[in-house]
Amino acid sequence: MKRDIIIVGGGVIGLMCAYSLVKEGKKVTIIDEGKIENSASFGNAGLLSAFDKSPLSYPGVVLDTLKLMLKGESPLTFHPTLDLKIYQWLWKFVQSANEKRMKRSMELFEIYGQIAVDLYTQMEEIDGMDLDLQKKGLLMVYTQEETFKQKIKKCQNPERFEILNVKETKTYLPCANDNIQGSVLLKKNAHLDAKRVMLEMKKYLLSQGVEFILEEKIEELIFNQHDVTAVQSQHNTYTANTIVLSTGYQTFLAKKAHNDLMLIPAKGYSLTFEMPQELKPKTSLLFADMFIAMTPRRHDVRITSKLEIGSTSKEVVQKQIESIKNNFKRYTLPFEMNNTIEWCGFRPLTPNDMPLLGRDKQYSNLIYANGLGWLGMTFAPAIGKIISELICKEQSNEENENIMAFN
Ligand SMILES: Cc1cc2nc3c(=O)[nH]c(=O)nc-3n(C[C@H](O)[C@H](O)[C@H](O)COP(=O)(O)OP(=O)(O)OC[C@H]3O[C@@H](n4cnc5c(N)ncnc54)[C@H](O)[C@@H]3O)c2cc1C
Repeated sequence: MKRDIIIVGGGVIGLMCAYSLVKEGKKVTIIDEGKIENSASFGNAGLLSAFDKSPLSYPGVVLDTLKLMLKGESPLTFHPTLDLKIYQWLWKFVQSANEKRMKRSMELFEIYGQIAVDLYTQMEEIDGMDLDLQKKGLLMVYTQEETFKQKIKKCQNPERFEILNVKETKTYLPCANDNIQGSVLLKKNAHLDAKRVMLEMKKYLLSQGVEFILEEKIEELIFNQHDVTAVQSQHNTYTANTIVLSTGYQTFLAKKAHNDLMLIPAKGYSLTFEMPQELKPKTSLLFADMFIAMTPRRHDVRITSKLEIGSTSKEVVQKQIESIKNNFKRYTLPFEMNNTIEWCGFRPLTPNDMPLLGRDKQYSNLIYANGLGWLGMTFAPAIGKIISELICKEQSNEENENIMAFN
């Protein structure tokens, strides 16, 4: 049986591609090596932080990281490795950290962030999904005087920013202690519950007739001269007119098409716990100097942090969990974290914060939807829309202005 569209990878990107495709009346099959219950798309902070937030590769990132390392608060861990790609990636990352690129990235973040927020809103209001979408802004909490002062200078537009001193910050973040310097509310940002998004999306897609083939790892792509004719697992072969790869940090299938995607796995951690209601934050926030996010959810709170490069171990390393807790506790009042769930996952990180989207150069029915890095939840609906448009309008990459914008 020849299928119409197969999406390999049922993380948030794969599901959002399916969402936009079924809206266009397409028949879609999603194949995933797991049960769609624990990818990066489940344990993340759920921040929709497209607005007024610099990319990861901003000018000064190297110096800032070194300073944090000296203070013992750096989120970055680098495991020396023989994998040359990691060093190429690091070199490109450093090259990307310049003003011109940052400006361009932030312009794109603004456009696609708005498309994404609008689509999440539509999913709740029209499709009836419960995503716990909260449009209350993102509070950037500063722990260093110097960085806070620098941020204030850039945040003088009251329509987009609210600058808060320590006392005012505590109205948003009652568990903060006096070691913080203050905060800036980035008003346009939002957050949602990542796991809820995934479960609601899956339920919705099933109701729309999307086929899910789970616990099936695709190991091979079968090619003719210009197309991929099938994907293959250990026991089965699936044929389709179009194949979308949304495999997160895993790049070995793209390599089969001689495309070595410039992305690396960047391991991160989350702790999800219950805390006293009166200390719960009123909106999502980021301890900007330490890269620790905190997201209030309906019944609990989640903190996420760390950027571990050179490791693909799926083990939750206790040293990292302790380090997150210690850094967090320096700036918060003492309180009990109850029923804590510890988690780790991998961001599919490109060196310049730009996703890798579009048709393969040689095999035109093979489409990539990869490399969303630390912004997969933020942009997933927009990415799904772009990929759907590329397929439904039978466009080349050059004919799709969104794909060209990211290039
Ligand atoms: C700690 C942490 C915090 C984060 N916080 C945020 C945040 O606040 N906001 C934000 O926007 N983003 C955040 N992110 C990033 C976000 O989680 C990712 O960008 C996003 O989940 C990537 O989605 P994906 O679909 O590309 O990959 P994944 O969610 O990893 O999904 C890929 C899927 O592909 C499947 N797969 C892979 N290879 C195969 C194969 N060969 N055969 C079959 N199936 C396969 C996997 O099983 C998996 O289900 C965070 C990430 C981490 C780790």
